[in-house]
Amino acid sequence: MRILLVEDEKALSAAVCKVLRQEKYEVDPAYTGPDGLDRAELGIYDAVILDVMLPEMDGFTVLRRLRQGGSKIPVLMLTARSSLEDRVRGLDSGADYYLPKPFQMAELLACLRAITRRGDSAPQMELSFAGVSLDAGSAKLRCEATGQEVKLGAKEYQLMELFLRNPKQIIPKELITERVWGMDSEAEYNNLEVYVSFLRKKLAFIGAAVKLKATRGLGYALEEDA
Ligand code: CA
Repeated sequence: MRILLVEDEKALSAAVCKVLRQEKYEVDPAYTGPDGLDRAELGIYDAVILDVMLPEMDGFTVLRRLRQGGSKIPVLMLTARSSLEDRVRGLDSGADYYLPKPFQMAELLACLRAITRRGDSAPQMELSFAGVSLDAGSAKLRCEATGQEVKLGAKEYQLMELFLRNPKQIIPKELITERVWGMDSEAEYNNLEVYVSFLRKKLAFIGAAVKLKATRGLGYALEEDA
């Protein structure tokens, strides 16, 4: 498996390269946005680890151009900031996963395994948060503590997937609507609210210790139920 690492901090880049090589990945470093984009477009990599703050072209722009060019390569974004704005921009630009700095190498490896496991033909990746998991194959939402599970409808699945990929972050209503119903959709926000209420009922049904917290005027966040 061949990984492209786009990170301008030389010490961090060297440390990540070393760990990835120990784990038997092949890894090539790039240190600027344009160089990263050029290499990513070669089509020889299985995944890209992409920093946000880069010289000449930031990570968001690199990712957006890569996606505009039709590349579906899995991208793990690194960000020093865990601000809402950054995360929304990352989601919008087409990132598969977000890892805020500073991170543990074990976390980085786990994220990398998660995004590269997902194949085009057989997406078997399981997303989970706080003991709640969603299986891509069966579309079943499961609570580990109770062993209960429930099948989700297509829109419910897309919604839950979005929340599980971005736990503990407020995801704006506009972004959710655009992601699940599409940009040209007639879907109103109350449609979203209806589906959120379906999901809440299903989460309660399986005994999940998580909640979909609404923040007035902003959006929803998947949180652990204290
Ligand atoms: Ca940087």
